[in-house]
Amino acid sequence: MLPVPVLLEQVRLLGREFVRRDMQAHARKLRLYYLALSHRLAGPSNEVDVHWNEAFVQAWLETLRVPPYDAALELRPAGTSCPRCTREGTQPSTRTELVFPGGARLRCSTCEDVWIETDPPPPPRPAR
Ligand SMILES: [Zn+2]
Repeated sequence: MLPVPVLLEQVRLLGREFVRRDMQAHARKLRLYYLALSHRLAGPSNEVDVHWNEAFVQAWLETLRVPPYDAALELRPAGTSCPRCTREGTQPSTRTELVFPGGARLRCSTCEDVWIETDPPPPPRPAR
């Protein structure tokens, strides 16, 4: 594995070539890689794997019930099958979208309903 300063120099070299060839999308992603690398945020093998976007930030805020997103999704006990599909007599098929310590964000593939399951209940938020 290359020492980080050597790799950073290679990234700069490649970035200049992307810009010279007007490969702006590649250059933009490489700039993010450079920033992560230069701030020692890369993982093993100097890997940076970032697939974040606005929707993903929103989903995590809702999932972790961070105010003011704390009531965005219904909280259900672990192992709940989709109540909407069960009520309508449809066979629900749930999939886990996100997992966090003590819970998960689930989606019904049949009706697209989304909810949070926690077991045990989440700790109370400290008063501000
Ligand atoms: Zn459903």
